[in-house]
Amino acid sequence: MELSVDVLIVGAGPTGLFAAYYAGFRGLSMALVDSLPEAGGQVTAMYPEKMIYDVGGFPAVRGRDLVKGLVEQAAPWQPTYLLGRKAEALRETGDGLDVLLDGGDVVHARAVLVTAGIGEFTPRPLPAGDGWLGRGMVHFVPSLDAHAGQDVVVVGGGDSAFDWVLALHPVAASVTLVHRRAKFRAAESIVREARGLGVPLITDAEVAELRADASGALCEVVVTTKDGPQVVPAQTVVAALGFTADLGPIENWGLEIDHRAITVDSTMATARPRVYAAGDVAAYPGKVKLIATGFGEAATAVNNIAVALDPQAHLFPGHSSNVE
Ligand SMILES: Cc1cc2nc3c(=O)[nH]c(=O)nc-3n(C[C@H](O)[C@H](O)[C@H](O)COP(=O)(O)OP(=O)(O)OC[C@H]3O[C@@H](n4cnc5c(N)ncnc54)[C@H](O)[C@@H]3O)c2cc1C
Repeated sequence: MELSVDVLIVGAGPTGLFAAYYAGFRGLSMALVDSLPEAGGQVTAMYPEKMIYDVGGFPAVRGRDLVKGLVEQAAPWQPTYLLGRKAEALRETGDGLDVLLDGGDVVHARAVLVTAGIGEFTPRPLPAGDGWLGRGMVHFVPSLDAHAGQDVVVVGGGDSAFDWVLALHPVAASVTLVHRRAKFRAAESIVREARGLGVPLITDAEVAELRADASGALCEVVVTTKDGPQVVPAQTVVAALGFTADLGPIENWGLEIDHRAITVDSTMATARPRVYAAGDVAAYPGKVKLIATGFGEAATAVNNIAVALDPQAHLFPGHSSNVE
């Protein structure tokens, strides 16, 4: 793959998605790379079903709907999405930067905006699920409809596990939660809600085996409990054991990094020319890590990039409300 864009946005979380809109608004071509298979960053990975109450203009918005709106907002500018791809290395070229992706592809960009949040997510593995990813075991539930009428086993005891339980309960034939401890990490209110719905919560238990039917499709899960093994029907297992997040290769990009965040100035510029950062990954005194903050930083970064790429350009983009 050979791709050349004005701005490569590393991270398709809320900040990166809004930056894509702004890049388009400034007449810049853009691509977004994200190691997750879906856009939306932490919102998609960790709390798509949760309501968010502190995004300007939305008294309450479901995580999933916020991401959908951001994708729609950027769509007129036709961003290139490189999902499921990791940005590995950055090197300067005569007229910009090359970003090397896993698998060996190179994206040439005139500027790079790093919106990598808390880093690349790696789901904590479910040992018994080895080899089952994509064959009935998932770490995310991008579409609830895909599980309509299924028996689903959710593994985990935190907020995300219970969020999936509550979201899947109305559509699935059955939902069972398996947790290896007696106590849950999740908020008491959602545990109570799940109990109130009659969701079986199997505690002090571990998923020992995933079993396939004659066609090779997942059909049941063997759970070891204090009272012996229990077989639970399952066409889907949601392994909601949390994620580890790591800036990984970005730590070697020659940027100034402190406490897993990239130091930026008031234009969102980093220590390297034509490399900017915004959102959770960007650090400066007084930084508050919120979606709203990331949106403002995305606008600041992209407008400054527009000037860096064309010194004749105005920093102020004009008001979008004046655009036909
Ligand atoms: C449970 C929970 C609830 C929250 N609730 C709220 C709330 O109510 N209000 C609020 O304002 N904030 C909330 N937050 C925080 C909010 O989600 C973050 O501030 C926001 O997601 C930051 O957006 P971002 O785009 O900067 O980074 P992220 O959302 O972290 O996205 C960064 C993306 O970059 C990708 N990435 C990283 N490194 C690479 C690489 N090398 N190559 C390719 N891709 C890479 C990652 O895969 C990720 O998708 C919450 C967070 C959590 C965990």
